[in-house]
Amino acid sequence: MEIILILAIIGSIILLQDPISSWIVKLKNKQQFQKFLTQETYYHSIISPHMRFYNRLNTEDQQKFLFRTYLFRKSKKFHYIEVEESADMPILISAVAVQLTFGLDKFMLNYFKNIFVLKDDYHYGFYSRPFQGHVDHSGIYLSWDNFMKGIHGLTANCNVGIHEMGHALTYVNFITQTEEDKHFKKEFKNFSKVARPIFEAMQYNSRNVLGAYAATNYHEFWAVSVEVFFENPIRLRHEFPELYKAMKSLLRQDPLVVLNAQRIAA
Ligand SMILES: [Zn+2]
Repeated sequence: MEIILILAIIGSIILLQDPISSWIVKLKNKQQFQKFLTQETYYHSIISPHMRFYNRLNTEDQQKFLFRTYLFRKSKKFHYIEVEESADMPILISAVAVQLTFGLDKFMLNYFKNIFVLKDDYHYGFYSRPFQGHVDHSGIYLSWDNFMKGIHGLTANCNVGIHEMGHALTYVNFITQTEEDKHFKKEFKNFSKVARPIFEAMQYNSRNVLGAYAATNYHEFWAVSVEVFFENPIRLRHEFPELYKAMKSLLRQDPLVVLNAQRIAA
């Protein structure tokens, strides 16, 4: 009897606390949003000249995009290695992360507190091949000149920012499990049903839109698929319609629908 009473008391405390904590979260969000509003125009002025993805969104989604970028940027520490720091670097890097996760509920890639910006290709570990970026337990690493080429679409099918954020997204969901997006985890199984056989076939013949590097291992297959999904959606859908469809459901966005909408408007 006493146990039941104690349980009832604990239960009512939990019930009482829950609305209070969600109220605090709401208040905090409101305060963050008020602060963001003072910076909204500034964020727009940095992002709009560089990102087609952002320019194609409607006004409401543009504000969501900028607010998410603001929150992401605020939560990270940026480090600059042999590259001169500029104000647009942390904002554009945050914006690319937001592009990838725009259809998802969770977008902070919270395990990663540190983002390292390097000048250009660099050597890492024992690899002989130069790196454009990588992700490990210590943070997200990106080379600035390659990053800019990627967002400007200067390198076919390549966008190193999207590629590394792709690694970071699976890292927080599956490796550290610190920011699990329910939808993403569930749909990733469906993605793999389609993707695994393509990846395995690529061990024998990798002449397709994804390219040989995607055959390196399944992590790279995923990161390259994400790059091509945004950079060359028409060809990806043409060559691998089922993969394209699975990625659309997984990321809850369709680069081609935005493209078509723009074409109709033009
Ligand atoms: Zn990679």
